[in-house]
Amino acid sequence: MSISTSGTTPRARAITAAYQRPQRESTIKKEPVSSYFGELTFDLAKMREKLPKESYQNLLATLETGKKLSKETADNIASAIKEWAVANGATHFCHWFQPMTGLTAEKHDSFVSIQYSNHSEVRVMERFSGSQLIQGEPDASSFPSGGMRTTFEARGYTVWDPSSPIFIVEEENTRTLCIPTVFFGYHGQALDNKTPLLRSVEALSSTGCEFLKLLGDVDVKRLQATLGCEQEYFLVDKNFVALRPDLVMSGRTLLGAQSPRGQQLDDHYFGAIPGRAKAFMEEAERELYRLGIPVKTRHNEVAPSQFEVAPIFEDANISADHNALTMEVLKRVAKRHGLVCLLHEKPFAEINGSGKHCNWSMSNDKGENLLDPGKTPHQNLRFLATLAVVMKAVHEHAPLLRVGIASAGNDHRLGANEAPPAVISVFMGDTLSGILDAIEQGQGNASVEEKVIELGVSKLPTFARDNTDRNRTSPFAFTGNKFEFRAVGSASNVSVPTCFLNTAVAAEFAKATERLKTLLDEKSSRDEAVLELVKQLVTETKAIRFDGDGYSQEWLEEAAKRGLPRYDTTADALPVLKDESLTRFFQDMNVLSPDEIKSRYQVALERYNMTIDIEAQTTIEMVTNQVAPAIEEQLKTYYEVEDDMHSKTLKATYAERIAELENTFDTLLKTTKTLNQELQTVRSMEEEAQMQAYCNKVLPLMLEVRTAADISERIVADNAWPLPKYREMLFAMNLS
Ligand code: ADP
Ligand code: MG
Repeated sequence: MSISTSGTTPRARAITAAYQRPQRESTIKKEPVSSYFGELTFDLAKMREKLPKESYQNLLATLETGKKLSKETADNIASAIKEWAVANGATHFCHWFQPMTGLTAEKHDSFVSIQYSNHSEVRVMERFSGSQLIQGEPDASSFPSGGMRTTFEARGYTVWDPSSPIFIVEEENTRTLCIPTVFFGYHGQALDNKTPLLRSVEALSSTGCEFLKLLGDVDVKRLQATLGCEQEYFLVDKNFVALRPDLVMSGRTLLGAQSPRGQQLDDHYFGAIPGRAKAFMEEAERELYRLGIPVKTRHNEVAPSQFEVAPIFEDANISADHNALTMEVLKRVAKRHGLVCLLHEKPFAEINGSGKHCNWSMSNDKGENLLDPGKTPHQNLRFLATLAVVMKAVHEHAPLLRVGIASAGNDHRLGANEAPPAVISVFMGDTLSGILDAIEQGQGNASVEEKVIELGVSKLPTFARDNTDRNRTSPFAFTGNKFEFRAVGSASNVSVPTCFLNTAVAAEFAKATERLKTLLDEKSSRDEAVLELVKQLVTETKAIRFDGDGYSQEWLEEAAKRGLPRYDTTADALPVLKDESLTRFFQDMNVLSPDEIKSRYQVALERYNMTIDIEAQTTIEMVTNQVAPAIEEQLKTYYEVEDDMHSKTLKATYAERIAELENTFDTLLKTTKTLNQELQTVRSMEEEAQMQAYCNKVLPLMLEVRTAADISERIVADNAWPLPKYREMLFAMNLS
């Protein structure tokens, strides 16, 4: 018998190491946050301080009107940035961008310029020109373009986005200046997630301002989308991850039996943060502050070893950059603490997955939040009108909002009984629902002003807070003065869902403007026309309002009755992007061209297929190389023990024990073989059929394999099981 004794297997060593790992010594600066906030960014304040006055004014003009920077200004800005970056230890710069993979990308270039004179005298200096700042040309051919570039040319360009602050990424031994950029192809087609987001904000601002002007806000110049993303994540000791091919390859466990205790005791949520996690958070937060990212809250989440960090909201474009950066910082800092930060939507089966609640609203150029009920009847009316337009947007564009959050990872949440369901609905809360119902039924002779006061809109924010518990199950909840898009996945790039939401609302602002114009002709006063519009919109969008339990079966049935679209999986949702009316819609809104939307569909499709393929392969490998050998050892022991057995009755009982594992093993081997065969079949299909087959054939087979493997995990001797178990990965943090 060769089952290794406890304490010497890699898994046993990982457990010991995890429990004995000393907490990393605090690197926390003793100074107040205000003294180092943003020290790694070259923000507008630094621009003002370091630039010649005229260059600074030119930059402001560019930010406000999009006017092109002159070469001289660009050179001045580049030189100021270089001085600052080099003084802070940066040796390289890079154009930082967000390709359609949903990740971030960067290509580093050195500042150093080395020149040799005729007499071989070497001149070394740091250089950074305006054109290097503004435009870059990464080797783009290896970024996914959904086939778009092959039809044109394999070149892509990155162009500086001056609205998002430049920053330095500080790693153990390197400091790199990062320039936020957009990424597009030779013919100006967007190859990234930032460009469409910026275009959607443009669209929102232009149609939104038209609408607000008609409401009476005649001097409104600009609208801004605001965004604050609550980021959930898991922390797992890195030694456990190293022993799990599934976590390394796919970021989630593909096998693994439940531990008896999961989250049922509800003791993790808002519980005391374990020391090791807190040390990690403090360091991560410090890094985030230095990057000018305004993180505000931290707490445990529902599942063991699950946590959340949330920032104060910012302009949507900056907030999206900051969220991408936050994810990078979390991963980087976790390593220093001997941890791995898992951003996957469902790292562990049967316990809660991770989301990224996107808090979203709009504000005007005076900084007023349009979804804030406000104090005056006019503000209240504006609030109701804006709210109704957003409801209309969700009602009309639910499939678009659904496809914006679709990914292989998020499928594990949206389909399951834990996260907002795959049906898009809106939570309003009792108070607001009451107000909306009253508007819908609204009659009477009172003036609009009196009616609005009577409705009690201005008291809303005080009531809305009480609803946070019930809106957990809603994909899109109104929480007092903003919407919370709760169905977004933890690993996603928020630019995509935010862009889709902005575009949907922009389109409905435009339609509402036309309707309001007609109503203004019909009604005796503007306020009456506005209230009538609100009434119509509220009536038309009733179907998407739902405050009940979004997890329940009754809701799914009710939603079907109401005719709400339902896309349970990415394979169901992605084809929405091929819809001709959607293509026209994006083109009309100037957010995505037909080519761009086609390429996005293509990239998402390929990513989905590759993700499931990798997961399936990894499952097969783990079974073949790790699980099966463990079972074989166990069976060998069984057979030896059985041979030596004297008692007949014990032998009979023991035969059951053997049969149990034999049966499980048989099932495991058969299902794994079927999975393997199916995988080969699927690979020979064309891509769209592939997507359906990965979803409907491969994933269910992976689950069958998993079930058999998990049963054997419960049977095989603990010290013979090679893979770290759920109880170890999830609870080590509490003990160390
Ligand atoms: P709640 O407890 O009701 O969820 P919080 O004030 O804790 O509200 O906010 C949660 C998140 O919503 C934070 O990131 C916050 O900055 C963000 N948020 C608040 N107001 C807005 C807004 N107007 N637009 C976008 N995000 C917002
Ligand atoms: Mg939360």
